[in-house]
Amino acid sequence: MDAESFRVGFGYDSHRLAEGLPLVLGGVSIPSDRGCVAHSDGDAVIHALCDALLGAAALDDIGTHFPDNDPAYKGIDSALLLQKTVALLRSEGWRVNNADITIILEKPKLADHKPLMRARLSELMGVPAGAVCVKAKTNEKMGFVGAGEGVAVTAAVSIIPLTT
Ligand code: MG
Repeated sequence: MDAESFRVGFGYDSHRLAEGLPLVLGGVSIPSDRGCVAHSDGDAVIHALCDALLGAAALDDIGTHFPDNDPAYKGIDSALLLQKTVALLRSEGWRVNNADITIILEKPKLADHKPLMRARLSELMGVPAGAVCVKAKTNEKMGFVGAGEGVAVTAAVSIIPLTT
């Protein structure tokens, strides 16, 4: 692989939290009294990851490929969106090299769930678990995340040509 064929992408997503909704992050259901308000299942980890992957391949953004006003995506399992995104990149000649994710959520604490998210995301993207890092932190009680009103996620990825 020559250095010019290596690409990086960055993604961000946030969702409002409300009581009584399921919380799904990184393809994993997490016990919580609050979950994401969203058109899909509200998996902000996968949404940020999809945007990072699409960005790396210069393929626009998740809202363009999976519009949130399209009934086809209402309540959809975001795992499918990630699989579709990876397939799209593959059709354009790219594969995932690694992904590095940071989840910013005041509660619940995610430490116990990180290994499962990592395993699930690596499975969905078809890469070794060692190519995926899931990190979690609070926002030190500041802002909308700190107030427990929402969750925010950042994702950085690198992609390389399929031929490497
Ligand atoms: Mg989203």
